[in-house]
Amino acid sequence: EKASNYQELSVETIASRLKTIDAVTDRIGIDGSKWQVKEVGDGNLNLVFIVEAPDATLIVKQALPYVRLVGDSWPLPLYRAYYEHEALVRQQQRAPGMVPEIFHFDNEQALIIMEFLQPHVILRGKLIAGEKVANLSETMGKFCARTAFRGSELSMKSADKKADVGLFSGNVEIPAITEALVFTDPYYDAEMNHFTPELDGIVKKLRGDVALKARVQKMLMKFASNTETMVHGDLHSGSIMSTDSDNRVIDPEFAQYGPMGFDIGMLTANFLMAYFSQPGHRSQDDLKDYQSWILTTITEIFEHFYAEFRHLWQTERTGMLYPASLFEDQGHASDAACDDVLEHIFEDAIAICGIEMHRRVLSLAHNADFETIEDTAVRAPLEARNIMMGAKLILNAENIKDIESLTTMAEQFN
Ligand code: ADP
Ligand code: MG
Ligand code: MG
Ligand code: MG
Repeated sequence: EKASNYQELSVETIASRLKTIDAVTDRIGIDGSKWQVKEVGDGNLNLVFIVEAPDATLIVKQALPYVRLVGDSWPLPLYRAYYEHEALVRQQQRAPGMVPEIFHFDNEQALIIMEFLQPHVILRGKLIAGEKVANLSETMGKFCARTAFRGSELSMKSADKKADVGLFSGNVEIPAITEALVFTDPYYDAEMNHFTPELDGIVKKLRGDVALKARVQKMLMKFASNTETMVHGDLHSGSIMSTDSDNRVIDPEFAQYGPMGFDIGMLTANFLMAYFSQPGHRSQDDLKDYQSWILTTITEIFEHFYAEFRHLWQTERTGMLYPASLFEDQGHASDAACDDVLEHIFEDAIAICGIEMHRRVLSLAHNADFETIEDTAVRAPLEARNIMMGAKLILNAENIKDIESLTTMAEQFN
């Protein structure tokens, strides 16, 4: 293997490093002395710089050879940037306009240069601040439906899809993070877990529940083996950037082929965690109204998801699966088949949702929704509601038939 010329970028070196790249200089000129460079620094894994020039601003994302959150004791291969770029390209095709535009990719430097989303901010911050966002459910419902459908053999040519599964199967370490942190660590005394001792009792109960752990491992088997579509893989509210009415999806470095319900399930969990954490962030006056907006958002995401998926089923079913020829002259037979597929997606999504609700409060990477509530006497009971509902979702995934059952359950645990 030839020696790598990879070098970490820094605020100081970025101008000299980027000034030979046409995709950069075409947009922001060659005079690096006029650039203002900031490191964003809120991600768990990578370096992200904002490079602001008089005429335009760029985002420069570079993978590090280790997990940023943990340090160089946890190495992580640079080639993940290759897969992130490949995933972004596919999302741009499958869900046009919903992800940042890519300007440049450098494999050796594990570097992606892309559109600076502005004045967008991370959605999670808005949810903590109690800000409503227009068009959120429509964008997210459509994003999930379009990427799920168009990355599957409902749409893709079989040979293309299989080749793509093969390509992405080279990305080993990133799925391993999800396999451990999401599906496994919360359910035993894993080294990197952390949570407040007030939760010890409920965690003990969770870990004593053999049926629950078995159900989670069954979902892990699906996650690792069902290559239904290319999932984003990390679709939480920190991977969505929003203004008050425009929403985009970022950071697909956890993309892999997996179950079609994975992304929408993880996303739903993050809205539910925003919901349960609200009493730690605002007074009774605004609380009810904002919490009910969050539940409405969840409901509408699924409504848009179903509508878009059915639309694509009718208009773009060009793949190997459920061929039109199979249902000829049988009226609405294929509509019923579509509903059956959606039911399967919903069941997976519900189970994934419950699992994500657990890992974000018990495993390594917590979310700010709960974590910014400093008083654990306030936080722990809210996290406990979230854990309890997560367990119920995991154990009853096949009996929860519609989104209203989910939102009603959230109100009961609240
Ligand atoms: P990581 O993979 O390390 O989590 P992200 O891709 O999530 O990195 O980026 C980290 C942060 O950088 C984001 O939370 C956001 O604040 C900022 N960021 C990333 N991409 C963009 C973009 N295209 N436009 C504006 N800000 C961005
Ligand atoms: Mg991120
Ligand atoms: Mg990331
Ligand atoms: Mg069923």
